[in-house]
Amino acid sequence: MTAVQEERTTAELKALAERAGRELEDATALEILQWAAGTFGGRFCVTSSMEDAVVAHLASRALPGVDVVFLDTGYHFPETIGTRDAVEAVMDVNVITLTPRQTVAEQDAEYGPRLHDRDPDLCCALRKVKPLEEGLKGYQAWATGLRRDESETRANTPVVGWDEKRGKVKISPIAKWSQEDVQTYVTEHGVLTNPLLTDGYASVGCAPCTRRVLEGEGARAGRWAGRSKTECGLHG
Ligand code: SF4
Repeated sequence: MTAVQEERTTAELKALAERAGRELEDATALEILQWAAGTFGGRFCVTSSMEDAVVAHLASRALPGVDVVFLDTGYHFPETIGTRDAVEAVMDVNVITLTPRQTVAEQDAEYGPRLHDRDPDLCCALRKVKPLEEGLKGYQAWATGLRRDESETRANTPVVGWDEKRGKVKISPIAKWSQEDVQTYVTEHGVLTNPLLTDGYASVGCAPCTRRVLEGEGARAGRWAGRSKTECGLHG
């Protein structure tokens, strides 16, 4: 049995994550993903909001054909769905689209319309957290595009850490990158980005909960603007 097919216990995965977090803190994003590819093989995936395809691009260099998991909440901007389709068409990745148990119409019928305005935590739980939990079941490790400079809640993001809630290794290969680093990588490699990023949006989520940012605002100020909510529950 090769390393990538190996079954590991939760305790083994946790120890692996903690050790890698220490040892890979100074590694490059590509080196971190090469480690993930070598350690987990097909039991590793990237999640992408389709704000840009930077982590998917990096991961495809480390593991051609890597699974890229996208959560289609039913509330995305058309530009986000278009970015997903373009990524699927031109990159060496396997895009997997996860959908919630209920369509938006079914959710409206059960909970009433515009749940996102009345109870965004419940809406995110139903349309993001639960489907991701289901979709990640077959994987030992998942990678995200979280960056320490995005918000206070992300300031201590480890490059490799332990996702206690899901019992998986969580990899944030660009945790140490700045927005400038992202832009440089996009330009150098011609990476696909969501067109909304050039239309005043700094962070792209579901349409009802995302607005353009104003001059001087932080990158995530346009997400759930006017509310205390800053995260959807995927990273808490
Ligand atoms: S971001 Fe808004 S619309 Fe999307 S799942 Fe969360 S509350 Fe619902």
